[in-house]
This record gives sequence, structure tokens and C-alpha cells, in this order.
Amino acid sequence: MSLSMDSMYQQIILDHYKHPQHRGTIEPFDAEVHHVNPTCGDEVTLRVRLADGEIAELGWVGEGCSISQASTSVMSDLVVGKPIENALRLQEKFLELMQSQGQGELTEDEAEALDDAVAFEGVSKYPARVKCALLGWMAMKSAVAEASSTVEASGTTEQGAQS
Ligand code: ZN
Repeated sequence: MSLSMDSMYQQIILDHYKHPQHRGTIEPFDAEVHHVNPTCGDEVTLRVRLADGEIAELGWVGEGCSISQASTSVMSDLVVGKPIENALRLQEKFLELMQSQGQGELTEDEAEALDDAVAFEGVSKYPARVKCALLGWMAMKSAVAEASSTVEASGTTEQGAQS
């Protein structure tokens, strides 16, 4: 990775840290999860609302290092308004990238799909920081799973969601 690429990535992370996307609580919501990364002290509480097989809304609050907060912001930007399937596929891709120990090889399509999330590629070289970058993504995955089972159990995606 060239130096200019590195600093461009750092800028993306900094921008999201300073101007977090979808930060805040949403109401109503289908599921709420709280995830912590004890090794760094990062926390995120995340809510989702599903509708028509899509992540209709997502809101989060958190505290911790710039990587954890920026990564949650980037993730939110990428999944809100997207079909659940696509969001989960992106989550898998990002997980793979983070577990690559700096050896991640993304195809052009994958890089395009991950968009700003590729800025965290360099983080995969630092095992201690990988959990920071993954925090928001793992929270999104469990919130969606929880919301899906609630929505299925109630037999409708809309009831009670419109106020
Ligand atoms: Zn952290």
C-alpha cells in the first residue's frame, strides 16, 4: 500500500469518527443489542428496524477508540436501506478482510461493495485492533438475526412498527 493510499484511508476513518453516520437512537425498533470489546474498552448499542426484507432503519450509540466508532459509522452507511441478505454478505466480506492479517485480496467488485470499509484493510495487520473494527459489524449481525426472529414470530413486519 502506498503512502498516499494510507493517508487517504486515515482521512476516511477520521471523517467518520468526527461525523458519525446514523448515530442516535431510533424508535420504533425490532431489536436492540449491546456489544463490548473489553480489550480496548469499546462499546456500541445498536437498534434496527426491518421492513420488506430490508434494513429500514439503524441507529447506534457508542464510545471507544476512533477505529471502533468510525467502523460502526461506515457500516451503518453501507447497510441502511439495503436488503438484509446484502448487508449480511457485506458483513461476511468485511469479517474475511479483517481476519486476513494484512493479506486480504479483494476483487474490484468486492472493494466497490465495501466502499469506505476498505479503509480498515490496514487494521487487519494489527490483531489487537481487529475487534475494534469488527464491533459494529458484529452488533449489526446479531441485531438483524434477533429482529428477523422477532418479525417471523409475530408473522408480520409492519404491525406495531408504524406509529
Ligand atoms: Zn478499540
